[in-house]
Amino acid sequence: MLRTASRAAKENGASRIRTITLSLGIYSGIVPEYVENCFREISKGTEAEGARLVFHELPVRIRCRKCGGESQVDTDTFQCPRCGAADYQMIQGREFYIESLEAD
Ligand SMILES: [Zn+2]
Repeated sequence: MLRTASRAAKENGASRIRTITLSLGIYSGIVPEYVENCFREISKGTEAEGARLVFHELPVRIRCRKCGGESQVDTDTFQCPRCGAADYQMIQGREFYIESLEAD
């Protein structure tokens, strides 16, 4: 993650990263506090040191295999809100990536 941020900063000719916005699926199993702590450690001495992390949470979205509908669902009610089927494919909710980067 940090390596990606660092590379992106270099490509843009930036010397210091101010803010990193991360997209985090609510079903990714990733804890923002944990990422924050790791980030503080590994960013020491790099252009990302002291950068602010912003977490953008992505809700879970599913595509129903029965009716073909795409819907946003709660993590505790995993079924198609349209037809009630529990046969679906998760199309969003597990991601973890850098959405944007603000640098000098
Ligand atoms: Zn359905």
